[in-house]
Amino acid sequence: MSNNSARLDAIRAIANAAPVESTFDYKNSPTSEVWGDNVFDLNSMAERLPKSVYKSLKKTIEQGGKLDLQVADVVAEAMKTWAIEKGATHYAHVFYPLTGLTAEKHDSFFDPDGQGGTISNFQGEQLVQGEPDGSSFPSGGVRQTFEARGYTIWDVTSPAYIMENPNGTTLCIPTAFISWTGEALDKKTPVLRSMQALNTQAQRVLKFFGNDGAMVSSTAGPEQEYFLIDKNFYYARPDLMAAGRTLFGAAAPKGQEFDDHYFGVIPQRVLAIMFEVERELFKLGIPAKTRHNEVAPGQYEIAPVFEFGNVATDHQQQIMVALKRVAEKYGMICLTHEKPFAGLNGSGKHLNFSLGSAKAGNLFDPGDTPADNAQFLVMCAAMIQATHRWAKLLRASVASASNDHRLGANEAPPAIISIFLGTELTEVFESIAKGAPISAEKGELSIGVDVIPPIPKHSGDRNRTSPMAFTGNRFEFRAVGSSQSLGMPLTILNTIMAESLSEFAEKLEKADPGSPAAVGAVVADIVRDVWNSCSQAVFNGDGYSEEWHHEAERRGLPNLRTAADALPVYKSKEVVNLFGKFGVLNEKEVLSRYEVYAEQYVGSVNVESNLVVELVRTMIFPAAVRYQSELAASLANLKAVGIEPDHKTIEKVTALIRDLQDGVTDLADLKDKEGESHDPEKHGLFVKNKVLPRMAAIREVVDELEGYVSDDLWPLPTYQEMLFVK
Ligand code: ADP
Ligand code: MG
Repeated sequence: MSNNSARLDAIRAIANAAPVESTFDYKNSPTSEVWGDNVFDLNSMAERLPKSVYKSLKKTIEQGGKLDLQVADVVAEAMKTWAIEKGATHYAHVFYPLTGLTAEKHDSFFDPDGQGGTISNFQGEQLVQGEPDGSSFPSGGVRQTFEARGYTIWDVTSPAYIMENPNGTTLCIPTAFISWTGEALDKKTPVLRSMQALNTQAQRVLKFFGNDGAMVSSTAGPEQEYFLIDKNFYYARPDLMAAGRTLFGAAAPKGQEFDDHYFGVIPQRVLAIMFEVERELFKLGIPAKTRHNEVAPGQYEIAPVFEFGNVATDHQQQIMVALKRVAEKYGMICLTHEKPFAGLNGSGKHLNFSLGSAKAGNLFDPGDTPADNAQFLVMCAAMIQATHRWAKLLRASVASASNDHRLGANEAPPAIISIFLGTELTEVFESIAKGAPISAEKGELSIGVDVIPPIPKHSGDRNRTSPMAFTGNRFEFRAVGSSQSLGMPLTILNTIMAESLSEFAEKLEKADPGSPAAVGAVVADIVRDVWNSCSQAVFNGDGYSEEWHHEAERRGLPNLRTAADALPVYKSKEVVNLFGKFGVLNEKEVLSRYEVYAEQYVGSVNVESNLVVELVRTMIFPAAVRYQSELAASLANLKAVGIEPDHKTIEKVTALIRDLQDGVTDLADLKDKEGESHDPEKHGLFVKNKVLPRMAAIREVVDELEGYVSDDLWPLPTYQEMLFVK
């Protein structure tokens, strides 16, 4: 009798699964034709709204400001009619609390009219503002429970959309989530505020290049990496279900060493999922573009075309939701954890970041003329300074218990924040720093090195080991974790760029805007200053190497290895001042974020250590002692027939069982003491220094046992099974 029936049932179920059937008629209704079908976008608005209302709304969308309630009433009516035509019976304010997940509160369009019928009740008021009972969302002390009220406010810059379900559809309204005192309780509000700050400061600088006037936005193109595994295995792994990652599991005999998965042929079922995800996203007006296998077996990637940062952030959440939902339909589970499988590549969410406007184009594009080049250099200088000055904050923006398993694991950038410029751009900066002039010739700005040499944009020449890599026309922030919302990293990029640009603007504003020579001299100064004070953050070599760690230390660059070290950065005076200065987060809002993230760190490790204790005691240990007694019985049998048996295996297994028992007792005892520290920083360090190392030690024992215990007794689906059975 084996005790691993769940595991064997899973394998049987997968082996006997019916082949994938097509779920939509792609021949008669191609995905390209459903683009935007489920979004109340500008086109639908133009079609359905009176001209004056449309104009007023469009202006609010493009320039910000408050929406007139009368306008809102008209919009609400049109939106409701549109939604009901699409089968909607409910509307939901969708918001993004600090959990990092997407939250929704659904209300019916209809109220009973008291006469046996219903009347529709969805006006401007319901569109613009909602009031979910927010008392259970983390607020980091911003709200007491007696003032639990939180409001959701329609974000007009993010279009409303229809969410489909087999049994009905819902109108979804993207909203900001704030407390009754006006504090941001979510991830969206700071993004919107930082977009505004960035625009304001960028205008001041662009004025000197004749490129101001049109709204400057950051653009974001996030690449999402994820794993897909069969649902049957998932439900047989309590660790995957509760923690999102495997807490145990010996390496499969064949891992990723042949790199044969990367860009390989996409398995049938996985490809079916991708097709359907893309179709879902297309209907929502989300420009999914690229799909491929990633490095680890079972790992894939999806990347949309970039959009304005605030819209991309919302869309990114929808991408994660769509991946999870569609995968389940095909009997698979999408894992967005940063490191579901030890020893294999983890998953990131590379945040490709740039900024631009309708007038100035992409501001990280070197451009063709010397004048464009000068503006480009100023923008790059801002990025270099921002990255160097706020390295710790950037590190904090990607800090979580799950991302700790990935950063610096020889596949993802280290926790040291450096910036890659490539040889061409580095040389330009170096030569200007050495004195090559930026002058005005024939009324045009000219940099001393003539024009910037062509910068390779194709991926072969890119540095993939840098946390912040220039890739020809944008920067790629590669440290962001796969499960994370883009909200905080983007907010921080926007804000630190705004700060550097505001400093440059102050310098430029002392020059006569009509004199290219004077502007050129200031540009040269800016570039030189930044290079002299920040070039130690520029690193074009291999960020994965051991030498870089030493070199970075020599250069004095911070290396905050874990979230426990990085999160307290949020509390620092400089950070609080930075956010305050640009109106992105007030002190209370910053500190509350620190508290929430610190709690999440401790909380998620806690869940994991509970799981370790439970899984070991109820699954691993019993399997191991059963095997031990089988061995013992066999030894006794041999002895009985006069054969002197070899005791090596039973001795080894017995030693491992003993280690396992001791390790788990130690961890369980430790957890009892853990509650003592109420200071989140101390608690974080306790978790990092005491809990995680003990968990890792137990894992070693379990993984070694997996190599001994009879396969028919082993209770957990193995790496081999989860990663290679598709
Ligand atoms: P790679 O894997 O080589 O880094 P991908 O093609 O997978 O490249 O992803 C590149 C991402 O960069 C896409 O999401 C793309 O939209 C985005 N991107 C391109 N240009 C910009 C830009 N100007 N601003 C922001 N993101 C951009
Ligand atoms: Mg990339």
